[in-house]
Amino acid sequence: MDQPVADSPVAASPVSERGRSEAPIRARILQAIFERRLHPGEKLTEERVAELFGVSRTVVRQALARLAQDGIVEHQPNRGAFVAAPSRADARHVLDARAVVEPEIAASAACSCSASAVGRLRRHVAMENEARAAGERATLVRLTGEFHIALAAAAGNPVFVRLLTELQALSSLAILLYARGEHAACPPHEHGDILAAIEAGDSELAARLMRAHIAHVADEMDLSEPPERRLGLAEALGLEPGGLPGRTGKPAGRSRRVPAPGTGG
Ligand SMILES: [Zn+2]
Repeated sequence: MDQPVADSPVAASPVSERGRSEAPIRARILQAIFERRLHPGEKLTEERVAELFGVSRTVVRQALARLAQDGIVEHQPNRGAFVAAPSRADARHVLDARAVVEPEIAASAACSCSASAVGRLRRHVAMENEARAAGERATLVRLTGEFHIALAAAAGNPVFVRLLTELQALSSLAILLYARGEHAACPPHEHGDILAAIEAGDSELAARLMRAHIAHVADEMDLSEPPERRLGLAEALGLEPGGLPGRTGKPAGRSRRVPAPGTGG
């Protein structure tokens, strides 16, 4: 009942579609990230992925290379492929890009969205509400992410769809690392409100609501940089004057890409 949106590029293929294509592997990995089942920094062993999908390692390498191009997978010399762990600066860049692109998408959908596309989006929002009411968190997180991609599809621009697929995957990874508390999904009602503006053909309102929505998503994350000065071990452990660092948010150690000192991210 919570089928992914039909034209969503993250819709995973059934097992029967296993074969030589890298696309189903990529779709599964993206979906696992959207559902927060694959976490930043998790290793993606080529042999194991090949075995699970019944494909050659060459096909797995192609899938991982595509994901690496989009910044979703990182290759580490002599260590293999890992799910990317975006830094706070990466997360801010992703949200900045979304704040520019997504109001345009909402405005464009308000101008061009067909009645059938609006109907699909309405059903999608209804599924989000069902998942929210049932407390199905993983499903809710995936559906709220897919709403943004579905909107790009409704706006009728395939470039927006590809861009949003990448930005959503990176957003999911950033939320896993930097979410405050347990929210980590789009605030309730906002998708419905945006959709109502689109349905009314009010492009200005749709863009304004989307801009506010992205700001709310950003507010749910702690993206302030931790102190840049590196502490000695004794100081970090509170055994030396200087005391314990007043850090907030999740430990920076979970991100493997720490900005160089002095760059400000
Ligand atoms: Zn949203």
